[in-house]
Amino acid sequence: MRKFSILIGAVLFAGLSVNAQQAPTTQYNANTKFEQMGTGLPTPNTFRTAAGAPGRDYWQQKADYDIKAELDDTNQSITGTEKITYTNNAPEELRYLWMQLDQNVFSKNSDGNITRQSGINPTSGSSFTALGNLTGANDKDYGYKIMAVKDAAGKDLRYTINGTMMRIDMPAPLAKGMSFVFQVDWKFNIIDLKSVGGRSGYELFPKDGNVLYEIAQWFPRMAVYDDVNGWQHKQFLGQGEFTLPFGDYKVALTVPNDMVLGATGELQNPKEVLTATQLKRLEQAKTSKTPVVIVTQAEAEAAEKGKPTGKKTWVYAAKNVRDFAFATSRKFIWDAMQVDVEGKKVWAMSLYPKEANPLWGQYSTRVVAHTLVNYSKRTIAYPYPVAYSVHGSVGGMEYPMMSFNGARPEADGTYSEGTKNFLILVIIHEVGHNFFPMIVNSDERQWSWMDEGLNSFLEGLTCLEWDRNFPATGIEPQYITSYMKIDADKQNPIMSSSDNIIPSTFGPNAYSKPATGLNILRETIMGRELFDYAFKEYARRWAFKHPTPADFFRTMEDASGVDLDWFWKGWFYGVEPADQAIANVEWYTIDTQDPTKIKAQAKTEADAKRETLSNIRNKTDIKQTVVEADSTMRDFYNSYDKFAVTDADKKKYEQYLSTLSADERKMVDEGKNFYVLSLKNKGGLVMPVIIRMEFEDGTFEDVRIPVELWRLNDKEVKKTLVTTKRVAKFKLDPYHEIPDIDTSDNTFPKEPEKPTRFQAFKQRGFGGGGSNPMQEARKNQPSGIQTSGEKK
Ligand SMILES: [Zn+2]
Repeated sequence: MRKFSILIGAVLFAGLSVNAQQAPTTQYNANTKFEQMGTGLPTPNTFRTAAGAPGRDYWQQKADYDIKAELDDTNQSITGTEKITYTNNAPEELRYLWMQLDQNVFSKNSDGNITRQSGINPTSGSSFTALGNLTGANDKDYGYKIMAVKDAAGKDLRYTINGTMMRIDMPAPLAKGMSFVFQVDWKFNIIDLKSVGGRSGYELFPKDGNVLYEIAQWFPRMAVYDDVNGWQHKQFLGQGEFTLPFGDYKVALTVPNDMVLGATGELQNPKEVLTATQLKRLEQAKTSKTPVVIVTQAEAEAAEKGKPTGKKTWVYAAKNVRDFAFATSRKFIWDAMQVDVEGKKVWAMSLYPKEANPLWGQYSTRVVAHTLVNYSKRTIAYPYPVAYSVHGSVGGMEYPMMSFNGARPEADGTYSEGTKNFLILVIIHEVGHNFFPMIVNSDERQWSWMDEGLNSFLEGLTCLEWDRNFPATGIEPQYITSYMKIDADKQNPIMSSSDNIIPSTFGPNAYSKPATGLNILRETIMGRELFDYAFKEYARRWAFKHPTPADFFRTMEDASGVDLDWFWKGWFYGVEPADQAIANVEWYTIDTQDPTKIKAQAKTEADAKRETLSNIRNKTDIKQTVVEADSTMRDFYNSYDKFAVTDADKKKYEQYLSTLSADERKMVDEGKNFYVLSLKNKGGLVMPVIIRMEFEDGTFEDVRIPVELWRLNDKEVKKTLVTTKRVAKFKLDPYHEIPDIDTSDNTFPKEPEKPTRFQAFKQRGFGGGGSNPMQEARKNQPSGIQTSGEKK
């Protein structure tokens, strides 16, 4: 503790206070961290405003589809014909159209396969999938056969295939407001998910010989043409997904008549494809508060053993969607319920084989319903009539109204906690994708974070409303530090094109770092109220439109009134981590100038100085000194107390007090503590500073300082905290809000390091990690047979 004097009242004191906030020895040290993004964002125009909203001349294209397709369950292929009505709303005419041929990515010679980096690691070995991809053995003649491209009159159109893209030359330019109708006939072999791996395909169940189909990215689809990119026809390489124009769909799907089918949209001919019993159960499901089984497990198991006696055509229609997917199998169990979403009834449905039970029957449809309600609250009311969750071997993938979700229990029906949590999380995530990017239609080929990041953020919030103990590690700052601490040259900024993101870091880069960033904005930087309003406004503005990153950044600031340019620059465009530290704390109190207090303090200090080892020993060792024994050897100074307060002292003090105002007098009397904290930003990423003061009496107080503290010096700053109570310890970030990659320097005085534990073991292999306690519990039941001496 050091004391400082107030010499001429409040004016100088105020001056001292300001000085205390800046390090007098350091220079202006800020770089561009707090400069506005300015030209870093595209220039606003009449299509997209500076506020981040669609402009007065905003336009987008429309593509309507009429598709007829048939599944060959013997050879796992699909043959189809589609009639496309393409409407040009751009101010300019178009002479050609681009379509996406996603299935071509699976052909041996696709850019995706040829440009994939590959090596052989003799230590870890190689999977047959990887080897098959290398040798081409996995390619069972995959990719499209385009059989015909014709105009409405049946006349052939010129077309050019460029990898996963196809250009169609129109006979005459398509003017603004006009539509072009044409037809494409095609066929392709469905990929085997087990050997190729992908977002859609088929899974063969060897035990019963039946096949389960999760079919998406399956018909030639129009590319997006917009005011940002012109045609978005960047090649599909596998990682960057896709973007599509909105349109209305009518799709007739012919499959063997013993199969159950679910798809994007509403079933148009239920009486032709469903049994009377199924129709009756669907009617019951409309008012049931829990899922009703439309096709039971027993019925699905019976179908597995049978054979089709013909075909059935399921007709679906969907309005204002950007894509269409379906799933079908004779193995499907089907359950459904209706959920009230902001006053509108919506179907929540699940399709899954018996291998998914009991987990799926208990959770899937309920989680779908929960997701629709929760996301609607935070964005816009779910606008579609249905949302499906389908189980097959696709780990997790989303399409409008349709999601494919992996999590499967063990063959004995038990499952680990991880499998259960993954099921809940992945259904929330994939159903949640209806909002981003299926409704808020961002460009996934370019920006993975715009759908994955925003969706993972809402997924985290929705998981916690399912179960407050859910391990929502994808949005909590402390869990992103392991990614953020890796070397700057081994990670990409979030603002990277999808296919350029280092594959091993794709998860944190596109999912958890943006999601965690949004959670930090909501909890720490903007507060829930401002954040939620702005986030909802973004969804409202861009629902059924095509937003860009700038539209998101601008809307979040425009609707909240919070300047976030520094955050977008640091978190989305940069790779620096957060690492705050308390380098030092200086302690001051005001010198009261009260001679009684000053002299008493001086006496205490002088007495303490005399407590030396020699003096302590001399107290007993020297029986009597000369001065003690002989009074003639004493004089004035032997009895003079230099710490006694004199009249002169008192008079001087009274004179000083008479110069102080009442407020100044109070400040002097309060005896406050002034703690000058030297704070360091070692990581580079600027973040708000949250400091806990733990007082000597065991209580604490938290101080929250906005990020602008760093605006004049983003490396080190001084900040003075004033308290009545004495502080025993200062601690940064008590609520784990800042993804600080090194928390060992976050306390002052520094805490001793926690010990690193090591295991003492006799034998390895008894760990419980990733275990299945449900299976263990079942084995250990009294009825279970235990083999003696077996080690588990
Ligand atoms: Zn996703």
